[in-house]
Parts: sequence; structure tokens; C-alpha cells
Amino acid sequence: MTRVRFAPSPTGMFHVGGARSALFNWAIAEQSGGTFVLRIEDTDAARNRPEWTEGIISALAWIGINGDSPHFEGPYFQSAYEQQHRDAATKLLKDGRAYHCTCTRDDVKARTGSEHQGYDGHCRDRGLTEGAVRFRTPDEGVTVVDDKVRGRVEFPNAAMEDFVIVRGDGSPLFILANVVDDMEMRISQVVRAEEHLSNTPKQQLLWKALGAEPPVWAHVPVIVNEKRQKLSKRRDKVALESYRDEGYLAEAMVNYLMLLGWGPGDDREIMPWSEMRPLFRLEDVNQAPAFFDEKKLRAFNGEYIRALPRAVFAARCEPWLDPSWDRSVFDRVADLVQTRVAVLSEVTANVDFLFLDEPVFDQASWDKAMKPGAAEILAGYAERLETVSWDPDSLKTALEEVGLAHGLKLGKAQAPVRVAITGRTVGLPLFESIEVLGRERSLDRVRAALA
Ligand code: GLU
Repeated sequence: MTRVRFAPSPTGMFHVGGARSALFNWAIAEQSGGTFVLRIEDTDAARNRPEWTEGIISALAWIGINGDSPHFEGPYFQSAYEQQHRDAATKLLKDGRAYHCTCTRDDVKARTGSEHQGYDGHCRDRGLTEGAVRFRTPDEGVTVVDDKVRGRVEFPNAAMEDFVIVRGDGSPLFILANVVDDMEMRISQVVRAEEHLSNTPKQQLLWKALGAEPPVWAHVPVIVNEKRQKLSKRRDKVALESYRDEGYLAEAMVNYLMLLGWGPGDDREIMPWSEMRPLFRLEDVNQAPAFFDEKKLRAFNGEYIRALPRAVFAARCEPWLDPSWDRSVFDRVADLVQTRVAVLSEVTANVDFLFLDEPVFDQASWDKAMKPGAAEILAGYAERLETVSWDPDSLKTALEEVGLAHGLKLGKAQAPVRVAITGRTVGLPLFESIEVLGRERSLDRVRAALA
């Protein structure tokens, strides 16, 4: 029975890299009819906050990973299992696989002459009964990690120090807690970020020393920005929550995240989860860093938006529309909006001019559009708006003629009118906008811009 897990530490917003690992695990669980365990690794009390935990759980639910599925189990909280972690250390001590150590970092440095030497095994055979607990690593040979993504990776044991599994104050370290929980939760495959590959030989030794068969390992590649730097929360927009809150669709996000390090093996990119899930194979995951291309994600999102049935699109726009705005007016432009926004947060600025008493004032748009000659265009068009027949074609022809009279092509003549009507230099097609806004209000705005 396949059991995978996702084991985030709630130390910040939920990173898109975490979401990608979660999705890979989710695909495996769903494919195999197995189980996906969510385990919150909340043992670092100083860095954990309950809101980060809630953020992770809600963001996972948003991308479809939640208790509505029979494949989902949890969430479990690592902090609840501290006794099991200590018991495991006790067993290792009893079996002679671990020992107490009272050396400070300075002691080790004084003996080895270097900070980077690693632990020298000083307390190995001293038979101490208190202090930190170190795991005894083999002195010779290699530890081989068979990784589904990285292949066979060899770690010389001589380079692996006897590492600490329980601190002097009795608190277990991540390296131990993580293994004990995976064992207790009968995890059969560990699919996680590449940064943990260096922990893996140590963890594999722990699994064996605790008498269990290690899981199948798979370390998925790091995610980098356009400068090939590892995506970092200080520098890059990495929080899944921010994308959600900006109006990315979960379906687009899932699609894009799955392609970070994996592909279906042909040129297809836009693929819903239901098509991707059966094709996903860890063996096909790349080792090379995956580029998180926000522009491409935006383009994906735009495609997903355009593919929505009209009524679904309108429903998805709801959070971006003021409750007071007349939905029957919005419905008249919904098609136009749907073809041009890449993220839903852009909906608001595309339509607000229809509902506000005055268009939003944007100085930059104003400066750009109201060049010499603009007043003449506005005055000429105001005159035409009084009588022109009220449809986009006639509205366009009228402006064309006004422009011509002042030696301006339509494109140039449109700019001041657009800003007068909508407040901005870019937006929905102008003449449809004017049509929906109506004669009185359009006239008022053109005249107001002249004042
Ligand atoms: N809690 C670890 C982290 O968030 C995950 C470790 C693992 O997946 O094994 O990096």
C-alpha cells in the first residue's frame, strides 16, 4: 500500500516549491489508490506560528489537497509525537547505536583545530549517561541512496560525522523526528525537496538502525528565478497564498506547478489535473533546477480564464466586484473582460469606471493622454455624442471623423477620450465601454475632462 507524505514546517507563508512537492505526492497517492499524509512539522517553537499552519492547510485545500478525498490523511502534528522520538533515541542508546556526548562546539574545535572538521568521536566510548545523543555512523564504506530522481547517490561514511539526534536539553532533532514519524506513519515513499538529499544517508542509517526498511526516496529539483537563483521568500514572490489572493485560478496553478521539473513527455503544457495525474512518474522528474517563470504562469492563467464557461467566469469574478455594483451591467461586459485579463484581480480596474460616479483618477494616464490637441478632440467628440446613434460602430466613426478634422488618426484621438471615460489609458475596447456607460454619463465625463 503506497503511503506518501507531505511534511511542511510552518515557518512562513506556503512556498510554491512546497506546493509542487505536495502535488507530486498527491499524484502518487491518487494514482496508486494510496494515502497522502499531511504532517505539520511544528517542533521549532521559536519559528512556528499557528497562522502559518492554517495558511498551509488552506492553501493545500485550495489546490485540491484536502480531506474531501479518501486519499487524504491528517493533519498530524509532529509536536504530539515527542515521546516516540525520545523512545527511538533510547532504543538506539540501548542497542549501542548511539551514545551520550557532552562536548561543546568549542571543545571539538580545540581538539580538531577547525570548525568544519565535524565531530571527532571523542565521547563514543566514554559510557556517559547524560548530554546530547549522537548517532554512531560507520567509519568505512559508503551509504548508497537509491533515489528515483537522482539515481544512485553514494555518500562515503568516513565523511559522515556522528550526528546529534537529541539535544543536551532532551529535545529531539529534525533528522530523528522526521524518520520516526515516517516510520510510525508507515510511509513507503519520501518525495521531497532536493535540499534534504544531504540528510538522506543519515536518515537511511537511522531507519535501518531502528529496524525498518527505508522508504523509496525521491528528491525533486530546486526551483529558481530568472537569474537562476534559488527561489527565496525574501527576494521572490513565493507564497502560494499570494497567487491565490491575486486571482490566479487553482486549476492553472496546479497545472503550472506540476510542470516544474516534470512534463508529460510531449509538447503539451496546458493540461488539467485529471489528465496529468495518470501520467506523472517520479522517474520522469528532471534533476535540473526548474525555472519558475511568472510570465508563463500568467499566460497559463489567462488561458484557463478564457476557457471558463461564461457563468463560471462571472462567479469567479465576484470577490473582485464591489457588492454595490450592478451585476446586470457587469454581465454586459463580462465577455470582453474575460478575453483580456490574465489574473482575476485585473477585473476590478477594467470595469470600475462603469460603476463609480467618476472614473478613478490616475495622474500618469492623464498626463499621457491629455497632450496638446486633446481638448479639441474632447470638445468635438462631446458635440457628436449628443446625437450620434448609440452603437459601437457609430461611436467609432464619430471619433474617427473628429480626429480627422484635427489631423489625428483614430489611435491618437482615442487616448483622451478613453482617459475621460475610464480614467485609464488601457482597458476594455473603448466604444463598447462608451455604449454600456450610456449617453448621459459619457457626455458628462467628456465635458468634465474639458473643464
Ligand atoms: N519539514 C521539512 C521541511 O519543511 C520537510 C522534511 C521532509 O520532507 O522530509 O523542509
